[in-house]
Amino acid sequence: MVKDRKLIIAGNWKMNKTVAEALDLVNGIKREVASVKEVDIVVAPPFTALESVSKALLNSNVRLGAQNMSENGPGAFTGEIAATMLKEFSVRYVILGHSERRQYQKESDELIAKKAAAAHASALKPIVCVGETLSEREGGITEKVIGTQVRGSLAGLTREQIEETIVAYEPVWAIGTGKTASSQQAQDVHAFIRKVLVEMFDDATARRVRIQYGGSVKPSNARELMGMPDVDGALVGGAALEARSFADIIRNSI
Ligand code: PEP
Repeated sequence: MVKDRKLIIAGNWKMNKTVAEALDLVNGIKREVASVKEVDIVVAPPFTALESVSKALLNSNVRLGAQNMSENGPGAFTGEIAATMLKEFSVRYVILGHSERRQYQKESDELIAKKAAAAHASALKPIVCVGETLSEREGGITEKVIGTQVRGSLAGLTREQIEETIVAYEPVWAIGTGKTASSQQAQDVHAFIRKVLVEMFDDATARRVRIQYGGSVKPSNARELMGMPDVDGALVGGAALEARSFADIIRNSI
């Protein structure tokens, strides 16, 4: 399907890969996807591998992402990483508000919105994650939850900034579980997110925002998911840890 939004497929490596393993993986990905022009490709290694992976990606078609950043600039914030520090390694994207951070670090929509603003202030493109839990879906409140997360996590962004923001819809019950949302379930929520973006911004702006799906994306389901009209890419966890499967997801999406 030809869409006017370019697909963006990102690999979230989470807390995996030593520097040596990260280099192996990124070199494999580079080889596998060297000829791909139709998709924006992003890898998000752990902070400790950013420098090495950044060097490995020089002159390639794969861009670098980080998995988190501070809402603050440099200063007395022990254990945190500022956007300006990510920029040193040519990081272009930063994943914000992943459900694991919402769950384990208790990140709120308000905090994520501050991080998104800080990312834009340093010309980093945030990938802002939203998603409902299984009990929320079964309780029939998916749209209520997603609407609140989208409005809260993107609060305060300008039209120019939202166009440079990626929204990732990641149903919590589908992350790392092997359970994928059906392509229709994904499309329904993506269309709903776009409707919320129309209300927050305007129709033309909302039409330019890319919305990724995440949750057990693999080579076998990528084509059908990416074929949905409002699905503009994927945020991939487990299947991004192996060059061939990540590349196959990309190839099957074109
Ligand atoms: C994720 O954590 O962003 C994710 C989508 O993981 P997985 O692909 O392993 O479900």
